[in-house]
Amino acid sequence: MTDAQSLCWQNNRIVDAATATISVLDHGLLYGDGVFEGIRFYRRRPFRLAAHLQRLIDSARAIGLSIPLTSDDLSNAITALIAAFGNDDGYLRLVVTRGAGPMGLDPSRCENPQVFIVASALQLISTERRLAGAAVIIAATRRLSADGLDPRIKSLNYLNHILARMEANHAGADEAILLNSAGRVTEGSADNVFVVKRGTLFTPPIYEGALDGITRGVVIELAQELELPLREIPIAPYDLHTADEIFLTGTGAELIPVRQVDGRPVQHCPGPIFQRIEQAFKVCIERDAEKENEWGHLR
Ligand code: PMP
Repeated sequence: MTDAQSLCWQNNRIVDAATATISVLDHGLLYGDGVFEGIRFYRRRPFRLAAHLQRLIDSARAIGLSIPLTSDDLSNAITALIAAFGNDDGYLRLVVTRGAGPMGLDPSRCENPQVFIVASALQLISTERRLAGAAVIIAATRRLSADGLDPRIKSLNYLNHILARMEANHAGADEAILLNSAGRVTEGSADNVFVVKRGTLFTPPIYEGALDGITRGVVIELAQELELPLREIPIAPYDLHTADEIFLTGTGAELIPVRQVDGRPVQHCPGPIFQRIEQAFKVCIERDAEKENEWGHLR
C-alpha cells in the first residue's frame, strides 16, 4: 500500500493523505508536542474506539493540550473516514498536535491545536512471520524513566523507542524489548509484553514503564474470561530467557508470538496459552463488530 492510497481527514475534509499538509511551525513536528492514537477497524467498525478516545483525551489533558473537537466529533470524523476509505479492515492514525507557534518550546502561544486522522491499510508483519513468531532482542537503550515522562501519555515523541527498534534492525531481529533503569522489562518498541510460565500469564505493571495498551487490556479481560491466572508483576530479563511462552500485543501488532529472545529459543511458539488467547481475541473482534450503536460512546 502506498501513501497515495491512504486518506486523511482534516478540518472536516477528506483528502488523499499524500496531499494533506501541516505547518512546518507546528510544535508537533518541531518538538513532538502532541498526542496520538493508532486504532484498528474491522468490518468497518473501529475496535475499542471508546477506550482509544478516552486514552487520547487523558494523554491530552496530561500535557495540557485542549483538543478542539469533542469525542462525538472525533467519532463522526472516523465514521466518515472509514466510509470514504472503502476497505472493511484497516488502521487509523488519530493525531492531535499543539499547533503552529513561535519557535521555542513554550506551548502557550500555540493557539490552534491541529487534529488529523489518516486511514490506511496496515501490514506491519507478514503472515508467515506472524505464524513463525517474532525474534526479539533486549535493547541496550533503556526506556525513558516513568518519572521523566509518564508512560501512560501516548505522545508524538517516540525517539527513545525508535533507537531501540534500530538496535533490533541491526541485530536482524523483529522487535526490541526495552528495560527500565532498574533493568526490568517494560514493553516492546510499539507493543506490550506477556510471558507465560507454568500456566500463569505475567505482564509488567504500567508503573514499570509500559503504555497502558488497549490490546493489553483486552488480553487481561480475555484471560479472566478463560480463567487463566494472570499477574501484573515486575519481570526480569531472566523471565524472558526462561519463559514457556512470550507474546506481544498492540493495535498494529495485534497478537504476535515470540520464538526467540536474544538468540535463545522460547520453549513454545506459538504456545497453547497464546493460541487460546488468540482464538478468544478473534471471537472478541467479531463480537465487538456486531455490537450496534455501542461504538462512538464511552463505555
Ligand atoms: N507500547 C507502546 C510504546 C506502543 O506504542 C503501543 C502501540 N500503541 C503499545 C504499547 C500497544 O498499545 P495498544 O494495544 O493500545 O495499541
